[in-house]
Amino acid sequence: IFDRLIALLEERNIPCSVELQEDGCNGDGSADPVGVKKSGCHGFCEMGPLLLIEPQGYLYTKVSLDDCEEIIEKTIVGGECCERLAYQKDGKIYARQEEIPFYEKQTRLVLEHCGHIDATSIKEYFAIGGYEAFEKALFDMSGEEIIQEITDSNLRGRGGGGFPAGRKWTQVRSQKTEQKYIVCNGDEGDPGAFMDRSIMEGDPHRMIEGMMIAALACGASEGYIYVRAEYPLAVSRLETAIRQATEYGLLGDRILGTEFSFILHICRGAGAFVCGEGSALTASIEGKRGMPRVKPPRTVEQGLFDKPTVLNNVETFANVPLIISQGAEWYRGIGPENSPGTKAFAMTGNIENTGLIEVPMGTTLKEVIFDVGGGMRGGDQFKAVQIGGPSGGCLTTDHLDLPLDFDSLKKAGAMIGSGGLVVLDSSTCMVEIARYFMNFTQNESCGKCVPCREGTKRMLAILENIVEGKGEEGDIELLLELADTISQTALCGLGKTAALPVISTIKNFREEYEAHIYEKR
Ligand code: SF4
Repeated sequence: IFDRLIALLEERNIPCSVELQEDGCNGDGSADPVGVKKSGCHGFCEMGPLLLIEPQGYLYTKVSLDDCEEIIEKTIVGGECCERLAYQKDGKIYARQEEIPFYEKQTRLVLEHCGHIDATSIKEYFAIGGYEAFEKALFDMSGEEIIQEITDSNLRGRGGGGFPAGRKWTQVRSQKTEQKYIVCNGDEGDPGAFMDRSIMEGDPHRMIEGMMIAALACGASEGYIYVRAEYPLAVSRLETAIRQATEYGLLGDRILGTEFSFILHICRGAGAFVCGEGSALTASIEGKRGMPRVKPPRTVEQGLFDKPTVLNNVETFANVPLIISQGAEWYRGIGPENSPGTKAFAMTGNIENTGLIEVPMGTTLKEVIFDVGGGMRGGDQFKAVQIGGPSGGCLTTDHLDLPLDFDSLKKAGAMIGSGGLVVLDSSTCMVEIARYFMNFTQNESCGKCVPCREGTKRMLAILENIVEGKGEEGDIELLLELADTISQTALCGLGKTAALPVISTIKNFREEYEAHIYEKR
């Protein structure tokens, strides 16, 4: 579509540019009437391929090659909206992106530029204020002041646990070691999750800027981005971004003429889910087998190469430039006090609007599923949502008014995880869902400790028997006993949370287990 649009513009002798300078011009002060660019993900996956026309804000959905001619004639030449290509629902046409209910209820901060800027152009990132937060931190703030701002914002890690980022940074800064590291976890392994991928592909400079600010605050001179090798586009966008930032003197030695140096590397993971765990991730970067180790010592004391290490995920770092430029008070004004800011969720399953969304923390499950998500596909009945992937739990109609934030979800026996939301309708078998996630966890268990290695295998065997109609009386109790033992004795988070999908499905849908066992369904 990109090439076709350019070819059609050239046919009509309409000058167009594919890369703009900081001022939106061609570099010599002149500006072509049309710029055509590839952007990152808009989030509205259900309706892709998408084409956004600026400055009018027209969003065209399900665009095909055959639509390009009409787009050029009607919109580029004629200035009108091609209503046929605009999003339509219940007979209403939504011409502009911000009017579409899917976007209207969102607060896109971290995803703000995804779908708008060309992720391969540092100039476009400069044009929207990119690296200004880093410059502010570098020239106008001390390390303590940066950490104080992050602490005051109460930014909590978006990778799952919700640990306060400011506290982690303080612990690393206070270590007396000269060499420290900043590591970004881009090893998003949950089935159905693609939030970090979209940020890395759509706005890579933003998370890099967040890492640079963290390095400045903690006194680190080297950093690693650990990214899944299954994300080749993300890897290539990050490589481009690092190269460009280095060319502009933002990475490397004596950055912008100061004493601060920061070198950034990319390390590709080989797709092991357990490498999302801190100590397994750092072991993998060191070239060792990705296995968790006993803690303490904690990563903030002895992390990568046994040096103090800040380890945060992509979304956490992507929040940092915003907090530095807009201030902690502004940030705390979004969402509840205990979990401020926004959260990106990847919404999949039997829902109308599958895609990538970002809402303020504390938004209820009902708002997410029915307002942003557009409700169940085909008008079917909502049954449950699996939140947080294999380490999370399922929420039901009883939880529709539950605010989505770290603490409320924990109280409900689930966890926000990295932000995967799999929405399930009334035709879904919840025992099958539990079996699916247990199968995933069992496959991904690294085998280092017995409770997880053997316990998940045993739980999976019981679940398979139940699903196949071979379940026996006492199986549910045995599953709960095993779940309790594994969660109390497993070495790392993977094992400790492995049984959560089973526990929550038994708690909320016990009758389905019983029907399989006693009615052999
Ligand atoms: Fe490995 Fe599982 Fe033990 Fe974690 S809990 S160390 S994944 S065997």
